[in-house]
Amino acid sequence: MKAAVVRALGEPLVIEERPDPEPGPGQVSVRIEASGLCHTDIHAANGDWPVKPEPPFVPGHEGVGIVERLGAGVTHLTAGQRVAVPWLGRTCGRCEHCLSGWETLCERQVNTGYGCDGGYAEKMLAWADFAQPVPDGISPRDAAPLTCAGVTTYKALKVAGVRPAQLVAVSGVGGLGHLAVQYAKTAGATVAAIDVTDEKLDLAAKLGADIVIDARAEDPAKALKRHGGAHVALACAVNEEAFTAAYGGLRRGGKLVMIALPADGTLPLPVFATVLNGISVIGSIVGTRQDLAEVYRLHAAGHTRVISEARPLESVNESMRDVLRGDVTARIVFEP
Ligand code: NAD
Ligand code: ZN
Ligand code: ZN
Repeated sequence: MKAAVVRALGEPLVIEERPDPEPGPGQVSVRIEASGLCHTDIHAANGDWPVKPEPPFVPGHEGVGIVERLGAGVTHLTAGQRVAVPWLGRTCGRCEHCLSGWETLCERQVNTGYGCDGGYAEKMLAWADFAQPVPDGISPRDAAPLTCAGVTTYKALKVAGVRPAQLVAVSGVGGLGHLAVQYAKTAGATVAAIDVTDEKLDLAAKLGADIVIDARAEDPAKALKRHGGAHVALACAVNEEAFTAAYGGLRRGGKLVMIALPADGTLPLPVFATVLNGISVIGSIVGTRQDLAEVYRLHAAGHTRVISEARPLESVNESMRDVLRGDVTARIVFEP
């Protein structure tokens, strides 16, 4: 089978021929139909973060496909069934986080396309307990971006406790942000979308954003304040200044949810203003299996539109370059 492999951090990926993966106990093998390119895969391939993946590895944590073979002990999945293989590849199932509904915080988690091989391939392995069944009626091409971009932004709105009548700012209308706009609308909020390209601002408006803010033309903090300030700001842009602007655009009692993970990102916070204004700053990491099931249910019910372009896996290096340039309609999905 074919796979796109990171052989060295910061180097172009290499398309390799590899033996078909053999499912071990508790695993299944999956024939990939669609596999999304998350900006996280670019951070992984470049080794942008403090905890680095070890090459060689296959990135990709939005892989969707058909279960081919079952490893020993797998009884709840069947060959021929469609599943997605998310970032949360497996967790320990026993720690305080796993037991309290916060499996995303498990210290012993293995991350797909980072700590084990991911979905940039014709076939991959998944731990059966974390392979998420994709309901009938959701295409692989739509399911792929929902599997990370969808669940991450849906969860971010949950942790922020977004309510109708609130103003929610979405900073960065890329793969994550274009879904964040839609979840915030579904939650009944007024949405202000912020980006730096005309295409993304037009897309945000088409997807229901009430206010669009061009960060090239004006300071998003000032623009948000003109509307009274955001109750919640979702920082989805891979840019530290965008975090600062989102923070600055909060109203009193507002919440900044940090989602994007720029290399070496730091956010200097003014203590006085944070205290006096009662501001919360929250980090939010992907979502649980239950969150993902809810994301698929919302999509099946017609609440979300996934905007994507299909490309062959061979285009992986140009595709990553295009994402870095902001030259992509929301999400690239590889169809190997
Ligand atoms: P993307 O490249 O598709 O989207 C980024 C968007 O930000 C683009 O539309 C770009 O035009 C816009 N942007 C760039 N500079 C901006 C600025 N100054 N102001 C406003 N917008 C600006 O990336 P993505 O796949 O949506 O991922 C975004 C980030 O989220 C990445 O860092 C990724 O690693 C991270 N991520 C985090 C989680 C999590 O669980 N916290 C999950 C998935 C991805
Ligand atoms: Zn991702
Ligand atoms: Zn655990």
